[in-house]
Amino acid sequence: MSHMNVEEARERMIVEQLEQRGIRDPRVLAAMRAVPRHLFVPPELAEHAYEDTPLPIGFSQTISQPYMVALMLEVAAPQPYERVLEVGTGSGYQTAVLAQLAAEVYSIEYIEELHERAKRTLAELGIKNCWLRVGDGSEGWPEAAPFDVIVVTAAMPGVPRPLIEQLTPTGRLVAPIGVEELQTLVRIQRVNGRLQEECFGECRFVKMVGKYGFSPPTEKQGS
Ligand code: SAM
Repeated sequence: MSHMNVEEARERMIVEQLEQRGIRDPRVLAAMRAVPRHLFVPPELAEHAYEDTPLPIGFSQTISQPYMVALMLEVAAPQPYERVLEVGTGSGYQTAVLAQLAAEVYSIEYIEELHERAKRTLAELGIKNCWLRVGDGSEGWPEAAPFDVIVVTAAMPGVPRPLIEQLTPTGRLVAPIGVEELQTLVRIQRVNGRLQEECFGECRFVKMVGKYGFSPPTEKQGS
């Protein structure tokens, strides 16, 4: 893809897929304008990077659809002084967008090869406010907690208590909850000391593995 094509494709993505579908937060739009999504997909799929779809990144995993990334970030609303935990680094694309929006981003990926690739891409882009590790993110990252925002990028059967416990008192957790086609994007936060749950429509993510996911932590998804 030529430089001009990339710029044009990204701008079209912002206008047609995000603004026209109701994404309003100017910080989210600016962050997604700033991150070169085509560098986070396999080279043979680079020309499709700005299309309105998730794309395969290997190991039966996907880079999420741009609209879904923007919606999750608008709903989570990370502020420039806040600390974020992302569960499911994948390609590192959403990590890079989060790094534009928050002070510090901690991201856990279960598949070592994806973690390594994401780490390389983020380093090549000079993004420094991210800390990546391999592990079962369904248990969170207790050593780095608490977090103002937790974003989960794989479907969970329910919300694990450890993730709730790793939120600050004003923290927000955004996650796809449910199985197969029956997933809902949910935001959980404390209001007057009680957990409040709000739904933001249907979604479809790959399944989370691990202790609080759909399969035991020793079993790797995909090939
Ligand atoms: N937002 C990512 C991006 O921009 O590329 C897409 C993430 S992909 C939809 C979900 C990721 O969650 C996969 O890479 C998968 O390996 C990872 N995953 C699944 N279960 C996990 C777990 N228990 N801990 C950490 N990562 C997990």
